[in-house]
Amino acid sequence: MGIEEKAENLIKEGRVKKELETGKRIHFLVEGTDERHSVIFDKETENFTCDCKFGTLREKTCSHILASKIYLLNEEKKPKN
Ligand SMILES: [Zn+2]
Repeated sequence: MGIEEKAENLIKEGRVKKELETGKRIHFLVEGTDERHSVIFDKETENFTCDCKFGTLREKTCSHILASKIYLLNEEKKPKN
């Protein structure tokens, strides 16, 4: 399974939650299959970081970061109430 597919599944299963949003950052909690990961989006640099091994190495975008990106995109599409 590719990370795109994994990320889509995380979204579909409701495993991505926005935990906290401040002026500078958005914190997400992503429930993986056996671990929970924290993804942080820095609004100033527009960078995502994740505490999993791929996110920490920063060599690859992990499925948690991708899922958080999709979450934000979906949120933008929703009408504001
Ligand atoms: Zn990750």
